[in-house]
Amino acid sequence: MILDGLALSKEFRAELKVRVDNLRSKGIIPKLDVIVAAQDPASVSYVKMKHRWAEQIGMTGDSYEITDETTQEELIETIFKLNADSKVHGVLLQHPLPKHLDENAALLALGSAKDVDGITPASLGRLVAGLPGFRCATPLGITKILDHYKIDVTGKRALVIGRSHILGKPMALMLLERNATVTIAHSKTVDLADRCREADILVAAVGRAEMIKGDWIKPGAIVIDAGYNKVEGKTGDVGDVHFESAVEVAGAITPVPGGVGPMTVASLLSNAVDAAEKMVS
Ligand code: NAP
Repeated sequence: MILDGLALSKEFRAELKVRVDNLRSKGIIPKLDVIVAAQDPASVSYVKMKHRWAEQIGMTGDSYEITDETTQEELIETIFKLNADSKVHGVLLQHPLPKHLDENAALLALGSAKDVDGITPASLGRLVAGLPGFRCATPLGITKILDHYKIDVTGKRALVIGRSHILGKPMALMLLERNATVTIAHSKTVDLADRCREADILVAAVGRAEMIKGDWIKPGAIVIDAGYNKVEGKTGDVGDVHFESAVEVAGAITPVPGGVGPMTVASLLSNAVDAAEKMVS
């Protein structure tokens, strides 16, 4: 079974549009602002797509471009300004920022109230503590895929490959919340292929093109490929999983593109709409 994240995101965005229309009828236009490194072409193109999808459902949003000349003080000033602006419901700090800037300090300054990407220490702490709050957009999108396809992870062995704070770690916690038995693998994991072969649910969040081959996968396993990798000589992005061999073995699999990516954006927008609705209630 192919887990079609693009089709699901279309349904999801149609539902979000109804909620946005409702907010607009009350004079509230959900606004998602983005802080993005102007010199990073991938980030700029992701952000353009996020704004385009937001506009399609009636939301609005501005981009604040960060350059090599932007100082840490200017960045923090921008964040405080957006925190204080009641017309802004969500703020996304698009990773990565230029190297001279302290991203953790920026995330601490953002706090949890408008962190619709769910990646600040405050939001991640809420996830660890099981408190309500914005959940990380990519793992949240993955849980929405699992729910839609009625994939129950309870008691199953889940392996998450990758331990970044925006993807691997929150994904593992969200699977744990759903009662999976979770292992996290990373670059120092020994015998990774064998660990993969034990997994009923395999989430690849590595950033290595087509690293996970079909013969690493347990027959019938659910394979979620969060990877987005550019490969020289290939147009478009490829995942962390070698799709052609994996699809022969897996019980269900997300394609790249058209799997996790669209549901990440839909989840980000959903969090932003939640934030706007909270301001009304
Ligand atoms: P990241 O911060 O670079 O983390 C990569 C993780 O993979 C690290 O924990 C690293 O281990 C681990 N790793 C690297 N090489 C490995 C290997 N050979 N074996 C096992 N583990 C290995 O990346 P990220 O930001 O989490 O992103 C991961 C992938 O997801 C990328 O392709 C990115 O483009 C994609 N992504 C997609 C979306 C989406 O919407 N679909 C959103 C965000 C990211 P160590 O910790 O030991 O270094």
